[in-house]
Amino acid sequence: MAECIFCDIQQGLAPAMNDPIYADDLICAYHWYSGEGPEYLGTLVVQPRRHAKTFAALTDAEAQAIGLLTARLSRALETGANAERAYVYFFGEVVPHLHLFVVARYPGTPEAYWRMNLNDWPDAPKGGAAEIASLSQRLRAALASDHA
Ligand SMILES: [Zn+2]
Repeated sequence: MAECIFCDIQQGLAPAMNDPIYADDLICAYHWYSGEGPEYLGTLVVQPRRHAKTFAALTDAEAQAIGLLTARLSRALETGANAERAYVYFFGEVVPHLHLFVVARYPGTPEAYWRMNLNDWPDAPKGGAAEIASLSQRLRAALASDHA
């Protein structure tokens, strides 16, 4: 096992969170799934396949690919999941492998739960593996029809 869980997943040494929404030679995107109880639906994770710790460590090709996919996933959350807005953030202070969160904020979310508090909203849409698989399929379809 490598020392990085995301590299282990990339190399097939650890189970993936679920089927990727998008993957190519440079980057991939999944719906977040910890395996422990319901997740906030619309929590996507974009990563380089290579172990790059931060944006500063990306190649130009990886950075371009991540930027483009982040824009397309943001649109996919709007068109495929009825999100009002997509938040994008990255810390990388727990697992030191760049993973950009692209997270839906849905219409009707009370302002007190905006930004980093979405998961605390009692009425937030949450789901397990089946709901995540269904949403991932809708997002794949939205990506496939993205002609922006
Ligand atoms: Zn890694």
